[in-house]
Amino acid sequence: NVFSETELHDDLKNNIERCKYVKPTPVQRYAIPIAVAGRDLMACAQTGSGKTAAFCFPIISGIMKERLASEFSDMKLCGGSDVAFPTALILSPTRELSCQIYAEATKFAYQTGVKIAVCYGGAPIGQQLRVLERGVDILVATPGRLVDMIERERISLKKIKYLALDEADRMLDMGFEHQIRNIVQQMHMPPPGDRQTLLFSATFPDNIQKLASDFLSNYVFLAV
Ligand code: AMP
Repeated sequence: NVFSETELHDDLKNNIERCKYVKPTPVQRYAIPIAVAGRDLMACAQTGSGKTAAFCFPIISGIMKERLASEFSDMKLCGGSDVAFPTALILSPTRELSCQIYAEATKFAYQTGVKIAVCYGGAPIGQQLRVLERGVDILVATPGRLVDMIERERISLKKIKYLALDEADRMLDMGFEHQIRNIVQQMHMPPPGDRQTLLFSATFPDNIQKLASDFLSNYVFLAV
């Protein structure tokens, strides 16, 4: 059971090897094949379980494979605009966690052309906006700052194909439910399957189960 045997893009596999990941953790072993197959997923995962890679690998690989197929057509379409149209959104409760996810994802996406950006509150917005002007494929964000950027019309979620919610229980505990629902409502999603959603949480109280039934379609529940 090693990463080289999974259905991930070869360039990503090389980066995984460079990061010295050899053997998947339990959550990675089960979540990655489910996500690569395009299914929605609700996964039980604690801090330190390797959950970051469990949602980052399928998203990065998916973007790389689609990019091959479309030969960067989406990028041309969005070029020169003030509004960023990320393909993937990773929501996390805090600045610290967002920065950690951003740092990991950046290593995994090394020299793949997949662009990653991070935005969080409690820091000046100007620098974060300038980074977005260069284009972004994967945006890692805390809910409050993301809502602010959407209201300023600097980010559009109309092209989101992948949504990951990390530490969803903590986001609800911190009072982000209203912002999260507002954010998901911004996504264009007529037929089911248009957007793939991966929800990670350490616990599964009623409010998380309700969120899952509202945001996920035909999902797999994973508890490891
Ligand atoms: P996470 O739970 O995603 O915050 O990961 C916890 C720590 O384990 C991080 O420092 C990761 O870089 C590391 N890690 C995650 N998955 C693996 C793996 N398959 N092999 C080696 N290290 C890993």
